[in-house]
Amino acid sequence: MSENHYSFFKGVERNFDKAAKFTRFSKGILEQIKACNSILRVKFPVRIGDHVEVIEAYRVQHSHHKTPCKGGIRFSMEVNQDEVMALAALMTYKCAVVNVPFGGAKGGVKIDPHKYSIADLERITRRYTAELCKKNFIGPGIDVPAPDYGTSSREMSWIVDTYISLNPHDVNASGCVTGKPVSQGGVRGRTEATGLGVFFGVREACAIQEDMERLGLEVGIKGKRIIIQGLGNVGYHAAKYCQEAGAIIVGLIEYNGAIYNKDGIDVEAAQAHRATHGSLLNFPGATNIVEPAEGLEQDCDILIPAALESVIHKGNADRIKAKIVGEAANGPLTPDADEILNKKGTLIIPDMYLNAGGVTVSYFEWLKNLSHVRYGRLEKRFSENRYTDIVNSIEELTHKKLSEAERKLIMRGPDEIDLVHSGLEDTMIGSYREIRDTLASTPGVEDMRTAAFICAINKIGVAYEELGIFP
Ligand code: GLU
Repeated sequence: MSENHYSFFKGVERNFDKAAKFTRFSKGILEQIKACNSILRVKFPVRIGDHVEVIEAYRVQHSHHKTPCKGGIRFSMEVNQDEVMALAALMTYKCAVVNVPFGGAKGGVKIDPHKYSIADLERITRRYTAELCKKNFIGPGIDVPAPDYGTSSREMSWIVDTYISLNPHDVNASGCVTGKPVSQGGVRGRTEATGLGVFFGVREACAIQEDMERLGLEVGIKGKRIIIQGLGNVGYHAAKYCQEAGAIIVGLIEYNGAIYNKDGIDVEAAQAHRATHGSLLNFPGATNIVEPAEGLEQDCDILIPAALESVIHKGNADRIKAKIVGEAANGPLTPDADEILNKKGTLIIPDMYLNAGGVTVSYFEWLKNLSHVRYGRLEKRFSENRYTDIVNSIEELTHKKLSEAERKLIMRGPDEIDLVHSGLEDTMIGSYREIRDTLASTPGVEDMRTAAFICAINKIGVAYEELGIFP
């Protein structure tokens, strides 16, 4: 297939097939894992100003081997059935890779959100939610959307409100969607979760001596030169956490201009510059790259595409200089690009692992909604009392006293944000090691994406086997 007629879903299938060869499952089970189980396409009218507009939207449930299904909703003019199917499939594999017990799903509304007023967006979102309710495509035990490209906690708050008004007797109704504002049942730490997960994943990759030696890089994220494409929620937080850990952000790319500075760009200042001037261009001290796609090809150690799919393809893969590509976006590399970069020896940290921080914290949010209690509420005081007893005993035994500041630090019990961040960190570290171990222990497998697919297929295959298939 030519790249002009590139099918994102077929691309995901191609990567799946490459990995499936290394698993023990029968053709039938593999076919079932790959298939998109349910596809909903709706068209509905919404009043915009003095006219009526017909909106096209989708929700795809790729897999029901675990329920509910889970995955974001994007608002973009690029939305089409193939794209939503591919993204839903990636959600299935993503959840399996990070041991989040959900099937994969994705939603898309074909609109350019910048062209509508907030009131219009609210009407579109509420009507889309009503369509999902009518078709039984949403619910805390059925299918749980979340933010994605072009949506945020604001849209999630309209979704939960619409769902609750249509399902007033459902005690778990707030678990029908995640990424909600905290005041509406959201969990602290969800906003930054995907970007923070990207940081944990990249940091873990850089911590493996053998891999860094092979790439000719020093161990550790400190001092690594990074280019980030996309300064939305994911790219911004990934950039911020990497910079805080000592990485040098040498390039930032947005759809309307990119900037480069080999000595580093202050992420916060660049974001403020973009807010005031409408683009990154002319940021003090940096060189302008007027054609944004060329930003990807600049000199760096790590390239983090954090915007849309297929930005690295057959046409530009050869010119990518980064030794590590961290896929913060879903599907930023076409399979052709993947092959070219793998041949060059580039370490590709695959999307289904690297951007799984969002769904991981969504899982924590959903658990919070079902348990109806904030994380830390039961144990915070108990922990603080225990730490106080321990510190007092040690002081008594040693006849030495800690300073007030030291006591405060040691005795603090965990808040919700601490538990969410540590749960995310543990997930990202544990899953990286699982994938890396699979890579090391499976002869013939040479890249992290194939290894990640193998991990996912093994878990989903077993789940299907244990589910049993109706006669
Ligand atoms: N949209 C995000 C993703 O692609 C988050 C999905 C979720 O939290 O359900 O992973």
